[in-house]
Amino acid sequence: MEQWLATKEEVIEGKTTDVYFVRIEECLLGDNLDKTKVWAEVTTGGIPRDSKNLVFLGLQDVLNLLSEAQLPVNIYSIKEGTVLPNTDINGVKIPFLVIEGAYGDFAIYETPLLGLLCFQSGVGTSALRIRKAAEDRILLSFGIRRMPPTIAPIIDRACYVAGFDGISCVLSAEKLGIEATGTMPHAFIMIKGGIEDAMISFDKHIDSEVSRIALADTFNDERVEVLQALNALGDKLSGVRLDTPSSRKGSFRDIIQEIKWELKQRNREDIKIFLSGGLNEESILELKDIADGFGIGTYVSNSPTIDFALDIVEIESKAIAKRGKFAGRKQIGYCENCQTFLCDDFLKEEIVCQTCGKRMNKLLEKVMENGKILSKHPTPKEIREYVLRQKEERVEL
Ligand SMILES: [Zn+2]
Repeated sequence: MEQWLATKEEVIEGKTTDVYFVRIEECLLGDNLDKTKVWAEVTTGGIPRDSKNLVFLGLQDVLNLLSEAQLPVNIYSIKEGTVLPNTDINGVKIPFLVIEGAYGDFAIYETPLLGLLCFQSGVGTSALRIRKAAEDRILLSFGIRRMPPTIAPIIDRACYVAGFDGISCVLSAEKLGIEATGTMPHAFIMIKGGIEDAMISFDKHIDSEVSRIALADTFNDERVEVLQALNALGDKLSGVRLDTPSSRKGSFRDIIQEIKWELKQRNREDIKIFLSGGLNEESILELKDIADGFGIGTYVSNSPTIDFALDIVEIESKAIAKRGKFAGRKQIGYCENCQTFLCDDFLKEEIVCQTCGKRMNKLLEKVMENGKILSKHPTPKEIREYVLRQKEERVEL
């Protein structure tokens, strides 16, 4: 079977690079310049959707790639899951990751390295905005069907570490060590001929630990189908999911309020209301006061990427930069007192906050030496806790 997918081996060999890197490596080798020592920084000129901060993700994959490719380079990076702006307090572009080594050794890996960081950071940034908008409502990642199946776990990992509560993909759940979440497809209700028979079948065959949540919009009005599902399962019904198509939505808010009223009349205010279908940040802000949870699909899985670039800022210990970039080795200072970021000389022993005068934490840490990964990477759960701690600090995302 012909597959338009790169294998892991092809990526490690550097075959997914842009051809111009292959050509200039040949030139550098021919001119004996391939061992030119450089310091190259990953920065970005902006963050999509007018976000003030991004979530830096993809570091683990970058380190695994460079280590498996056995590149004799040093890497300095901020922690995976750090939430920060793209420039410091003075407008200097923040270096998220730095490669130190011979340019000819790593040039062809620029393409896959950026691809790993740009995509995951893009999904994570959208997911954190959704997390913030939804406050404490349940958030589920439902977007993997919009993307190639091989990257489903990458999408779900980014959503999970950015604060989503659950994901729908079986493989992603296995990798993350959590339970996959879902209700039932419309196809099942159609085959069973209606919501009542579908719920009875689900209740008969599915482990009792799994929540009984009815998808209530297949053939009839949502209010009618919710009551049919309640009639079929009684006390066992724990929630309803409304996936109302846009052609029928009218006022979604009114539909939900009618359902809540009917449930209240029957003393079943405990039944949770989940919404899905084309939701975004605006719809969450609009509906979160009357919903218990949201299934978010395309908005996160098709997130705009963070357009990171890799640029040389030092050649053979001499600061140099192309137009639009800032020359020289930099460290990033972070002030816990006033939440500001400041780029300063990498070799400075101490970075002092220019706003409050306090000593700043240095964010760039050495994570790879001569191709060897220096420490164990945090688990997705640990990265998630780190992201959510920062969400409280950053007023604006
Ligand atoms: Zn400060």
